[in-house]
Amino acid sequence: MAKQDDLFKNVVSHAKEYGYIFPSSEIYDGLSAVYDYAQNGVELKKNIREYWWKAMVQMHENIVGIDAAILMHPTTWKASGHVDAFNDPLIDNKDSKKRYRADVLIEDYAEKLNQKAQKEIEKAKARYGDAFNEQEFIATNARVVEYKAKQREILERMARSLETENLEDVKALIEELEIADPETGSRNWTDVKQFNLMFGTKLGASAESAMDLYLRPETAQGIFVNFQNVQKTGRMKIPFGIAQTGKAFRNEIVARQFIFRMREFEQMEMQFFVKPGEEMKWYEYWKTTRLNWHLSLGLGQENYRFHDHEKLAHYANAAADIEFNFPFGFKELEGIHSRTDFDLKAHEQHSGRKLQYFDTETNQNYVPYVVETSVGLDRMFLAVFSNSLKEETLEDGSTRTVLRLPSVLAPTKAAVLPLVKKDGLPELAQEIIEDLKWDFNVTYDEKDAVGRRYRRQDALGTPFCITVDHQTLEDKTVTIRHRDSMKQDRVKISELKDIINREVSMKTWLMKM
Ligand code: ATP
Repeated sequence: MAKQDDLFKNVVSHAKEYGYIFPSSEIYDGLSAVYDYAQNGVELKKNIREYWWKAMVQMHENIVGIDAAILMHPTTWKASGHVDAFNDPLIDNKDSKKRYRADVLIEDYAEKLNQKAQKEIEKAKARYGDAFNEQEFIATNARVVEYKAKQREILERMARSLETENLEDVKALIEELEIADPETGSRNWTDVKQFNLMFGTKLGASAESAMDLYLRPETAQGIFVNFQNVQKTGRMKIPFGIAQTGKAFRNEIVARQFIFRMREFEQMEMQFFVKPGEEMKWYEYWKTTRLNWHLSLGLGQENYRFHDHEKLAHYANAAADIEFNFPFGFKELEGIHSRTDFDLKAHEQHSGRKLQYFDTETNQNYVPYVVETSVGLDRMFLAVFSNSLKEETLEDGSTRTVLRLPSVLAPTKAAVLPLVKKDGLPELAQEIIEDLKWDFNVTYDEKDAVGRRYRRQDALGTPFCITVDHQTLEDKTVTIRHRDSMKQDRVKISELKDIINREVSMKTWLMKM
């Protein structure tokens, strides 16, 4: 655990030191769970967003994008169920005065049981080697069966209690399991209460005429209210999707994990409208497609897993998370939800407008079903950034810090470095920059010895360093150094564009899907 904590601390400090993420309004000591993206962070974030947009919108003929406003008519949130049901169950510890999400405390406990079962499996695997039959072991080993059954029983009971608003039972469960405050060990808990996560605000000048609004807690509703506009003007035929990226706001109860859980964050969502009855087929399709998108970035298959929801949200008939192995363990990165016709029907009822699709084959109108994919951009950032940060020991025994970002996402694709600050080398380096900057984000660096400059670019995650030396003056060649292998090749200046492009283009990476 200590090692994990250290890794996470490193991630947070590296993000600050290298201009990726700063605490919001830091000169006033920051604002809890709000962060600013710095000069490199903004580029990485933009590249992740574009990678998603390319894969989801531009590579699909039947998916289009929109950019709806953050402020929406307040009835939207009544119809969507957020006013009545967008709550988290919170519990306070009376001794430490710390506040927790009751469901998260219970889920963490259940996850520990899962880990215990996993340990037994690993031990047996090591003992029996090739002869080991994992499925049989999971089904028959008394300890594993017991851990798994207990885990299931706890999660099912919690789901039932939350669904029926039986908050006394949620507390009873915490007490029966003897769950303690993770920070202090105290078991002196208050009752469990519901807490609405929406931020309220007002529209209008005078207090009397002002209208109560909410900052949107998800981007999805901006898509639903525009369903008819997009379908008609885009002449969209079912099945089709509407995508958008943008800010969402949630007054999170516990926000202690850097950009994993923020109060202001960005989502990348796509609502896919399908014929009723076909939603399960599309739900499976999008689960697979989205996982493949994640895998295309090469962060390691073992770092992803699906988690099927026990407790379904009020709008869903099936839901799964793609979880990622963050520095603090496996947690939700993306949600894939089969939302039925809940949202469109609710907006029909509240607005009095028809939100239906006319099927020319059957000559019938129907309210489409929806399958949603929803990923947090900031969580994607954290997944990519934390997974890429490595301390490496080199052959000569020295160490280097390297940010092995997928090069398609790296903020800067190449740094151009004159070996020395004289003899016309800086001018030549600038000429190379002038040429490359039309296609890539590139940077110039002449300060310090070249070895130190390489290290600085490694820590920034720049995939290529291009060094201009005296030979360049003679034969128009440079050395190009690869961040990950540290290999250096001598190449012609005229070849640089192709070499970089082959490595960093979205096509190269998305073709792996
Ligand atoms: P959690 O259970 O972690 O609170 P959620 O199930 O409420 O998440 P959704 O409503 O499904 O999340 O939102 C879709 C995605 O938006 C999530 O998978 C996550 O990546 C992102 N997200 C949600 N809340 C936050 C937040 N507070 N900060 C950053 N990203 C968030």
